Amino acid sequence: MATKIEDVDLIVIGSGQGGVPLAVDHAKAGKHVVLFERGRLGGTCVNFGCTPSKAYLAAAHNAGRARNAAPLGVHADIRIDGDAVMDRVRRVRDEWHDGSEKRVAGAGIDLIRASAAFTGERTVSAGDRSVRAPRVVIDTGTSPAVPSIAGIGDVPYLTNLTWFEQPAPPKRLIVIGGGYIGVELGQGARRLGSDVTIVHGASHLMEREEADASDVLRSSLEADGVRLALGTTVESVAMHGTTIVAELSDGATIEADALLLAAGRTPNTPDLTLDASGIAIDARGFVRCDEYLQTSCSGVYALGDVAGQPAFTHVAWEDYRRLTSTFAGTPRRRDDRVLSYTTFTEPQLARTGMTEAEAREKGIGAESQTIQLADVARGTEWNLETGFMRLVVDGADGRIVGATFVGYEMGELIHTIGFAIELGATWHDLDRFVAIHPTFGEGLPSLARMFV
Ligand SMILES: Cc1cc2nc3c(=O)[nH]c(=O)nc-3n(C[C@H](O)[C@H](O)[C@H](O)COP(=O)(O)OP(=O)(O)OC[C@H]3O[C@@H](n4cnc5c(N)ncnc54)[C@H](O)[C@@H]3O)c2cc1C
Repeated sequence: MATKIEDVDLIVIGSGQGGVPLAVDHAKAGKHVVLFERGRLGGTCVNFGCTPSKAYLAAAHNAGRARNAAPLGVHADIRIDGDAVMDRVRRVRDEWHDGSEKRVAGAGIDLIRASAAFTGERTVSAGDRSVRAPRVVIDTGTSPAVPSIAGIGDVPYLTNLTWFEQPAPPKRLIVIGGGYIGVELGQGARRLGSDVTIVHGASHLMEREEADASDVLRSSLEADGVRLALGTTVESVAMHGTTIVAELSDGATIEADALLLAAGRTPNTPDLTLDASGIAIDARGFVRCDEYLQTSCSGVYALGDVAGQPAFTHVAWEDYRRLTSTFAGTPRRRDDRVLSYTTFTEPQLARTGMTEAEAREKGIGAESQTIQLADVARGTEWNLETGFMRLVVDGADGRIVGATFVGYEMGELIHTIGFAIELGATWHDLDRFVAIHPTFGEGLPSLARMFV
């Protein structure tokens, strides 16, 4: 007998960063909302991404800072309690996860804990439930990509889904991938005592970033003792007893106790049978959306990572705000935002808006100025001289269009520039601003004056 289709007000597939608040708001407004989730409630960020990785880095960077205090005359004898580090990581993660559970239960959402698939137009099914709604939101995120390497199926590799389940950091670690996940977790593991090699196919870590920013990361990771195999790929992996042996394209062989795959992400769309609702995907499998996050099927929207956009929690969350506005009758475009992000290595690599090259590609006569942190009082006084601040402006009117800040906790300071872009400020505005001495922020008016 065919399953009876229930008509509801809103269907959300995936409890990621945009899906949950959207479901909660609608349920609290008295709508019948069905939320499908096949894994842990709260999605990647809370369970396998931002939250556990930053709790992990909190331990790692405290160890790194203590070790780096020697030039100040402070000599620390560091002892890492790996079990305690990982226990705390899981505790912090579980607190956030439990918060998601309470939020969803408290809002009266009809939660179906199963893998959902489209079975008709705006109709979604899992197990013995089949629901249809005028609006369906796909928030299914991405999964770690598994590169095709000889022997990969025979080796107990780790991904972000399993990394935080380890009882303690591994003794010897190979990381495949020098993107932001690879460098954050690789440096973190090194600072917690692991012997780490990062293997990356491109000649630069995080090769989409400016070369000098990437170079600062490279030298900082090397100073920590991370080994980098750049412009190199892993050709094969095999188990020799309990040891993982990786053969590299340059002929080298590395032995390790753990292998972390951080070599890209694949969209969670294959299981959704999107064609049943006429929803198109792009060549890489991400859901095709217009500027209002609307898919090729009327009434079906996608948000967050699966919509093929910069993969950050704040992007998914901002999509929720945009869809809320659109559903209320005041459509908001997906691109009406200043994108900012940070790689939480030490030093951090923080970005907002456009680089000079990106601005030029858009036809803007962009100019940039760069100040080294060694030329800012805060940098020299605190022995935090590694890195720089770069400001990008439109040469025509001085309007600020972007910035790259590399240095200690630069993810905080970059917000000032993101906000300045949002307000349409120019370098002249920044020049007028009186900064506090001696902070890194003091470098901002100094940077502005370099455009005179
Ligand atoms: C290690 C790591 C560190 C990160 N650090 C940061 C950071 O510091 N800052 C930052 O901004 N971003 C960070 N990110 C990225 C961030 O986690 C993602 O951009 C964000 O979680 C995307 O949210 P989302 O809503 O698109 O989907 P997700 O959070 O991925 O949620 C998707 C949900 O959909 C569920 N699902 C999938 N298919 C189905 C189905 N068929 N049926 C039912 N449920 C389904 C999944 O189980 C999952 O729970 C990090 C990511 C990783 C991996």
